[in-house]
Amino acid sequence: MIFDKKNEKSNIFAVCLTSIFRKMIAKYILLAFALVSLTLQGLSTLNAQDYDRLRNEMVEKQLKDRGIKSKTVLEAMRNVPRHLFVPPDIQSDAYLDSPLPIGLEQTISQPYMVAFMTEQLKPVGEMKILEIGTGSGYQAAILAYLGCDVYTIELLEELAERSEKILTDLNFSKVKVKCGNGYAGWPDEAPFDAIIVTAAPEKIPEALLEQLKEGGKMIVPVGPVHSIQSLKLITKKKGRITEENLLPVRFVPMVDRTK
Ligand code: SAH
Repeated sequence: MIFDKKNEKSNIFAVCLTSIFRKMIAKYILLAFALVSLTLQGLSTLNAQDYDRLRNEMVEKQLKDRGIKSKTVLEAMRNVPRHLFVPPDIQSDAYLDSPLPIGLEQTISQPYMVAFMTEQLKPVGEMKILEIGTGSGYQAAILAYLGCDVYTIELLEELAERSEKILTDLNFSKVKVKCGNGYAGWPDEAPFDAIIVTAAPEKIPEALLEQLKEGGKMIVPVGPVHSIQSLKLITKKKGRITEENLLPVRFVPMVDRTK
């Protein structure tokens, strides 16, 4: 074999150059990735004005355009900072048109559902309202913003504690949060002008019907676990109960620990 010394040198030189270029290109690619991910992070951290804008859009498109009329309910939804009631890593999703996970397999309801259920109860200042299923505390905050005297029961201790803290931090400390079983209601505070149930029982709990004031309204999703339920508006008049089916819905189950 003929060995060409000159060629060998230039080959080694070429290999060195290629490896330097490769390293440089790899560095630039890494840098580009870092820049793109930093930019994306920057885009996902929203500031107070961004949240105000998202909340206004939510009110216009998800609520007003779909028929929510009550000025006071719209005002409450425009002012209560929903993003502060959801876990920090999903705050930028808080104004999406959907329910969101809040941990422990529970959810905060879709904004439209919160507004619709609230509007049905026609809440006015000083009304005494019982909520079953505190969850994130958001529904309770909306009712408190409207001036209602809110009593709310949550089965899971961790959620009861977390929501109580958020409500206090946001100056809704008048809301009374109790960790307990919603099927029993809150007998010591009964009767209530209205009851809102935000988890679905298979049938309307007797104790809640008893704790509803004469002339009072209860809104409750009723139906089988993990299936379509019916959102019912219950009215108590002269001791008689009337029931109206409003919407097909899907809520997390109202857990009955006695079963
Ligand atoms: N209103 C809430 C959403 C509720 S999700 C909000 O604004 O975020 C339903 C909640 O009902 C869950 O937190 C669940 O733990 C609670 N729950 C289920 N069964 C219950 C029961 N028997 N008594 C009280 N709370 C119950």
